[in-house]
Amino acid sequence: MLKYSLSALARNARTYHQDWARMWRAPTPKKEYDVVIVGGGAHGLATAYYLAKNHGINNVAILEKGWIGGGNTGRNTTIIRSNYLYDESAAIYELAVRLYEGLSQDFNYNIMFSQRHVINVALSVHEMQEQHRRAAAIRGNGIDSEILTVAQLKKYLPHLNMNGRFPIFSGLIQKRGGTARHDAVAWGYARGADNMGVDIIQNCEVTGFEITNGIVQAVQTSRGKIKAKKVGVVVAGHCSVLADMAGFRLPIESFPLQAFVSEPIKPIFNHVLMCGGGAHGYMSQSDKGELVIGAGTDIYPSYSQRGGFDIIEETVASLQELFPFISRLRMLRQWGGIVDVTYDRSPIISKTPVKNMFFNCGWGTGGFKATPGSGHCFAASIAANQLNDVAAPFSLNRFYSGALIDEGAASAVAH
Ligand SMILES: Cc1cc2nc3c(=O)[nH]c(=O)nc-3n(C[C@H](O)[C@H](O)[C@H](O)COP(=O)(O)OP(=O)(O)OC[C@H]3O[C@@H](n4cnc5c(N)ncnc54)[C@H](O)[C@@H]3O)c2cc1C
Repeated sequence: MLKYSLSALARNARTYHQDWARMWRAPTPKKEYDVVIVGGGAHGLATAYYLAKNHGINNVAILEKGWIGGGNTGRNTTIIRSNYLYDESAAIYELAVRLYEGLSQDFNYNIMFSQRHVINVALSVHEMQEQHRRAAAIRGNGIDSEILTVAQLKKYLPHLNMNGRFPIFSGLIQKRGGTARHDAVAWGYARGADNMGVDIIQNCEVTGFEITNGIVQAVQTSRGKIKAKKVGVVVAGHCSVLADMAGFRLPIESFPLQAFVSEPIKPIFNHVLMCGGGAHGYMSQSDKGELVIGAGTDIYPSYSQRGGFDIIEETVASLQELFPFISRLRMLRQWGGIVDVTYDRSPIISKTPVKNMFFNCGWGTGGFKATPGSGHCFAASIAANQLNDVAAPFSLNRFYSGALIDEGAASAVAH
């Protein structure tokens, strides 16, 4: 693999940057692999990367029905944080943030990780009390978390409307939180995995599984049958469809979640703002200058990748109340993705009723931030045929035992 460096840049400038090597190959699928990963989003790519890097398993294929990173990975608003309430969540999201902190060096490829602080604003006494409880629990897990007074909030967010319809009570800040370039995360994992021998096969839709005596033998695809000793399925909003192909059901509902960006403006908004109460919405400013805006899912499950107009109206109305200056901005683009939501709003990393078949899904509205941690744990679990300590609480067993990890109720916002 060509190492990216100043001298590589200078060398390639001599040929007008026409001769850069491709970042990954376009191989023809082999007849058989040790592990087949279904879904070429960042979680699938990360899983293949850590299978090869940490476990020496490189006879691996990633099968992607479209192009890599074209699902939720390329559609999300890139908020990264690890300030979750419960110990199980703290362990996996903090592992992810720690890996993010070294990912550009690990990849030799800039993922533009910007730890610009994530700030939650409380608009009621109840939310303020909840922020205090969360800050204490989060710090108890060794994760940075501070309460901001109204005066401190004003310093961080000078454009915040203090005299609007919603009184401002307090803020919660994670200074190590921030954003990263989502495509770069997918491409960095793809480049690294390909370099270690993983086959990335795009335009290859999985249409079924061959299962004998409860053991997965092969995947059927739009490019023919591919045998696999183990199969990892990481397809976000389409996990119920794939589970159906394998003959079981998942406690998942799929909803459209949308986001939009404004026209570019000068740097004005230095942090990531999240608000989950009476004014539901979140906002950050991209490196291009666009304000990146999002909020909650549609109310109804659906596979339509656009999202309802009522959500746009509610989100923009909420954010205008908090930042009146945005009423002057034109919106440039709007899009949606299909998110996979469990009823405790925590992910599923699990074995399944089919032997040697593993599922990783249920990241809902907040899985981008978890990408390195999810790939790391899923790879370890597939390699060992057993869920590792960080992944184990997220297995499907919790829906039988009742040991749910109810982050939805804890934080009200899961981005
Ligand atoms: C609008 C929006 C905003 C979001 N904002 C945030 C945020 O700010 N922070 C955050 O942490 N998270 C956020 N998320 C959630 C986050 O994007 C996801 O949790 C995460 O990207 C999931 O990654 P993934 O790799 O599992 O899924 P995906 O990137 O969706 O990858 C799954 C892949 O599987 C492929 N696939 C599906 N079916 C098949 C098949 N039959 N055969 C082969 N391939 C198949 C799909 O084409 C897709 O590429 C947001 C999501 C959306 C939609």
